[in-house]
Amino acid sequence: MDSCLICGGFAEKNHFLCSECAKFALFNTRCCPKCGNFVFEPDPSGCNSCRKKGIYFDKIQSIFIYSGAVAMLISTMKYNKIKYLAEILGNFIAKNTERGLVEGRTVIFPPMYFTDKLLRGFNQSEIMADRVASFHKLDFDWRLLKKCRKTEHQANLDFEKRITNLKDSFKLTRAVKNESFLIVDDVCTTASTVNEIASLLKKNGAKSVNAVTLARRTLYFS
Ligand SMILES: [Zn+2]
Ligand SMILES: [Zn+2]
Repeated sequence: MDSCLICGGFAEKNHFLCSECAKFALFNTRCCPKCGNFVFEPDPSGCNSCRKKGIYFDKIQSIFIYSGAVAMLISTMKYNKIKYLAEILGNFIAKNTERGLVEGRTVIFPPMYFTDKLLRGFNQSEIMADRVASFHKLDFDWRLLKKCRKTEHQANLDFEKRITNLKDSFKLTRAVKNESFLIVDDVCTTASTVNEIASLLKKNGAKSVNAVTLARRTLYFS
């Protein structure tokens, strides 16, 4: 029996929260089929956010809306540097990732710049990706991507700046021709990070790139 990460009560089956605290966690059930953005009316041709830019990943799933209990746990994990939260949330992502997203893929994650990782002590996305890979028995390549320069925190930037901020900030350490990947991340805002990595992989011949994130930010619930 697991305990609720917020109040310490009995967690619901296959959840990290009790039934009361789970009322403050919103599942992302209505989203754009192309970019995963929360939308009121999902449309196969995309949404206002992704129609104006190139989308390089194939499929994305974000389990929760970034708000309430989920937002609180993610910021506690990052800013209070609580590593075990990344493990528990990573196990939750693993169990809730759609089967169609994972098959035959190598699991990767957005790396942190080495000084940022030193300061936090861990990269939460790396821990989550490791949980997803072991649960689904997939290869985990923790060395594939390298963050080669420090970038501003994406959350502090507007849409245009998010793209220029990340431009050429990741590097591949090996060839990826004809391989398929699954990127695991904690939070996704405009999907710029996932898109930048997917673009790099595709330019280098990768066959397919999917992504799964614990939460998705949206203006409607911020
Ligand atoms: Zn609770
Ligand atoms: Zn979209």
